[in-house]
Formats: sequence, C-alpha cells, structure tokens
Amino acid sequence: MESKYNIVSIIRKKRDGETLLNDEIKYLIDQYTADEIPDYQVSAFLMACFLNGLNDEESAALTKAMLHSGEIVDLSDVSGKKVDKHSTGGVGDKLSLILAPIVASVGIPVPMISGRGLGHTGGTLDKLESIPGFTVDMDLPRYKEIINKHDLVLAGQTAEIAPADKRLYALRDVTATVESIPLIAGSIMSKKLAEGIDALVLDVKAGSGAFMKTTKDAIKLGEALVGIGTQFEKETIAYVTNMNQPLGYKIGNWLEVEECIDAMHGEGPDDIMEITHLLAGTMIYLGDKAKTVKEGIEISKQQIENGEAFQKWLDIVKEQGGDTEMIESPKKYPQAQYEFVIKADSSGYLSEMNSYEIGMASVEMGAGRKKKEDDVDPQAGIVLKKKIGDKVEKGETIMVGYTNKSSAIDAASDQLIGAVTIAETKPESVNLISHTIDKDGSRAFEL
Ligand code: URA
Repeated sequence: MESKYNIVSIIRKKRDGETLLNDEIKYLIDQYTADEIPDYQVSAFLMACFLNGLNDEESAALTKAMLHSGEIVDLSDVSGKKVDKHSTGGVGDKLSLILAPIVASVGIPVPMISGRGLGHTGGTLDKLESIPGFTVDMDLPRYKEIINKHDLVLAGQTAEIAPADKRLYALRDVTATVESIPLIAGSIMSKKLAEGIDALVLDVKAGSGAFMKTTKDAIKLGEALVGIGTQFEKETIAYVTNMNQPLGYKIGNWLEVEECIDAMHGEGPDDIMEITHLLAGTMIYLGDKAKTVKEGIEISKQQIENGEAFQKWLDIVKEQGGDTEMIESPKKYPQAQYEFVIKADSSGYLSEMNSYEIGMASVEMGAGRKKKEDDVDPQAGIVLKKKIGDKVEKGETIMVGYTNKSSAIDAASDQLIGAVTIAETKPESVNLISHTIDKDGSRAFEL
C-alpha cells in the first residue's frame, strides 16, 4: 500500500526548520529499518536534525520509534532489580568494563548493551572485542542465558534490540551528525529501554573530549535523557563529569582493557576510580543493595578489595569466549608494530589536553573507524605519561603512540603535539563531577 508520507518531503520539512509529525518520524524509522529508505536520504535527514534540532515531542517520537524498531526484552524471570549504566561518550572512557563486574558481583543483574566507537570516542564493544575470542554478538535466548547465569552480560545490539539505532549510530559516526542532543538521547535511551532494565545511571560527559563541550549543554543532554527515562518509568540518575582530558592514562582498545585489569586489582588511576565508584555506588543503591549512594560507594570499593569484581570479570570473559589467560597475564598481549614518542617542546606545567584531537589521532592510528565498514585495530592507541597539572621539562615524554600503520605516524604526531598546551603556571584543579540530575531536576553535585 502506498504511504501518505514521502521521505523527500520529510527531509525538506526538517531542512526548512518545520516540526515533523510523530507519524512522519515513525514512518522514516520504520522504512529505514526495513531497508526501504537508503543511507544517503537518512544522512540528509540526520544533518537537517543536527542543524535545526528536534523539539521535545519530536525527540520523544524519535526515541519511541527507535525503541519499537525492535523488541523490548522481558527479563522478568531474572530476579532482582536490573540496573545498567551508559556514558554519552568520551576518550579513555573505559568505566563500564570496571563497574559492570563490580555491580554484578554484589548480585545486581547488569544487562549491558553497548555501542562501538563513535567519532573520536571509543566504544565498549570494540574494547571487549580486543580480548581474543570475546564475542559480543548473540541472540536474545543467549543474552538471557548469560544474564541468568552471571548477573552480567556484555552484549552488542542483538538484531532484535533497537535495530534502527544500530544503523543510525553507524551512519552518524561517518556523517558528522553525532553531537546533537535529540539524536544522542534517542540513541542511548532506545537501546537502554529495550534491554530490560528497571533503573539506569548515566555518565554525561562535558568538555573537549565529549560531544557536549560545555557543562551547560551537558546538563541539557542529561535532562533530556533523565526526562525520557522517567517518562518510561525507569529510575534514572545522571551525573555530569569532566572530559577535558582523557580518563586514566590509556586510550585505545586493548590498552584500555589493560588499564581496567589494573583497576580491578586495586591499581586504577584516581580519576577513573572516583567516577567508577560513584557510578557503581549509584547502581548498587538503585539495585536496592545499599540505603544510600555513599553506602553503595563503600560496597563498590570493597568488591575491588576482596577480589570479587575481578573474579566476576574472569567469569564473564570466559562465558563470552574470551581468552582469560590474557586477562590474567596481560603482558602476553602482542604490542603494535610501531611505537613513537611525543615530547614536551618547552618546560612548565601541562595545562590543557584537547581530548577531541587526542581521540581523532587514535582513530587515525587505527583505534577507531573513519568509514562504517572499517575494522578497528585492537593494538593501536596512546599511553599518556603526563596529565593536566603535571610538571614537565622540555624534551620529556608526554605520550607514547602505538600503531600498526606507519603511514599514520606523522599526521598523528602533529595532531598529538598540537593537542597539548604547556604553561608557566600550574592550572587550578577542577572537580571531576559537577552535577547530579534526577527526576527532580539538576543541581551541583554533592554526596
Ligand atoms: N552513546 C550512544 O549510545 N549513542 C550516542 O549517540 C552517543 C553516545
């Protein structure tokens, strides 16, 4: 039957700043999922949304259409409150890999469906797949089997879960249409609402390495995300956290897994551990295993100290086909073929790190994708030797790059040199966590 809607008119309407009908949005998402509308038309639509925005009603219609492009998983046979976490994306943001086993080790089911790298940011799935043998692809029965067995599953979007997001996500990544509040909110919430959760914790990043460059925009995104969660009757708490420098010291898929292994052994960098324990503590609180977030944080710390989080991590790696020998002896992992060093060109204090540029350099070196068909190189990445506030001497090493693409070294080196600023005076330290957002609105963060 002929539809009364037409994709070119929908694109034109959004291009001209008009408001779309809910049914037009649903038509576009349904037809795209059914392969009836090609990528190039949807690319044009995404750019029109990026430039002209979507109002609250359009945004809700987009999330709903994406959510209903697939199934909503029923996890009612898994006992306990199901809680998940999602980040809006950053550089060196590996927290999911640490906090998911922490929370599951307390007996709270964490059905985690993640994404791949997007733009300059890394993706949990690419990190997990850097573990030899680890598989994130599974069907729904297997997803349910794993969560039932371990209180944890680390999966990619199954064919059934928000398939529209899976396709739009890959398309946005290569059409410069990622940094849009309604598109990010729809993408995250359609996946998360489909996976069978009761509650959700969101890490909304603000700064040079985030999609939202300012705290003000990050709060707006956080409010949009929490608003959708609340509308769908899921307890949702978001925090705005600083992404003006990469998290931790390692960027790149396997390098980040390595840093997570250290963290699970109690040797994680301070910035990583501060945010990880807050997010895990909030999940433990929402999962009814602590009376307050503070108590949740204490439990989270205990689970690292008593080794239960690491044991849970080993169990899930084994269950999902990963080589646990690499997790127990990460030094056995082969290093990339080429290594290059970035040195300070003056003495002083490291005062800025443009995390967007650092993320893009890592993409150039193979750690991310430039086209949606690209494979990522698990060995490529960057190790930071200095972070903001550290004293540096001229000629001292600030970063080490690892790549298998010799042709990328010159451009990546230039990009990395340009990404750091050295000043004479020590920069003031900034709070890592700035705001809390929940159904009552946003406020300055305090525990
Ligand atoms: N994470 C997602 O899942 N989607 C986005 O659009 C951005 C971050």
